[in-house]
Amino acid sequence: MDVESVIRILKETHPDSKISLDFRNIFELLVATMLSAQSTDQMVNKATPSLFAAYPDPQTMADATAEDIVPYIKSIGLYNTKSKSLVKMAKLLVEEHNGTVPASMKALTALPGVGRKTANVVMGNGFKIGDTGITVDTHVTRIANRIGWTTEKSAIKIEKDLMRIIPEEDWVDITHLLISHGRTICPARHPQCKSCPISSHCESAFSFQ
Ligand code: SF4
Repeated sequence: MDVESVIRILKETHPDSKISLDFRNIFELLVATMLSAQSTDQMVNKATPSLFAAYPDPQTMADATAEDIVPYIKSIGLYNTKSKSLVKMAKLLVEEHNGTVPASMKALTALPGVGRKTANVVMGNGFKIGDTGITVDTHVTRIANRIGWTTEKSAIKIEKDLMRIIPEEDWVDITHLLISHGRTICPARHPQCKSCPISSHCESAFSFQ
């Protein structure tokens, strides 16, 4: 299995792949990523400008109630749970981290509503620390299985398999590359194997036709 060739081809095929959430600082990245669970990045990007205008930092969000937050995120799935998590998360930032987002996997995953996936996004795309893990979403899950990089279904096990074979310097990029590949060439239904530049490296190539 030539993992490095696949990564090189994916980089050539999707040169502009990057995180599609809009944010101006790490606090906004954290909030946007928390909101993106069970939702699309486009829906989150529509909601966050007014949310960030009203609650631009941990202190203002910590002073709010969940009910205050709901109207700003009502278009996003699970808004009741997410509004509660946002306020609790902001309170903890204020109380334990001087109102800043901590640059540590352990501290991030200790925040309410922040799991390993969200923490990986913040570490890699906010702090540019990419050696803590690989963000595994639905596209990464599907394509890593199709290519043959893993046979696992749970995000935590897939992440472990990918961390074993993917060079550390690509741990942030690989998520965006696989998401771009999933959106354009290898969607859940009707993957375009005939035009796929990594078909010669993929264990599932042409098995869908
Ligand atoms: S060869 Fe087909 S299944 Fe494999 S990554 Fe490409 S599009 Fe997806």
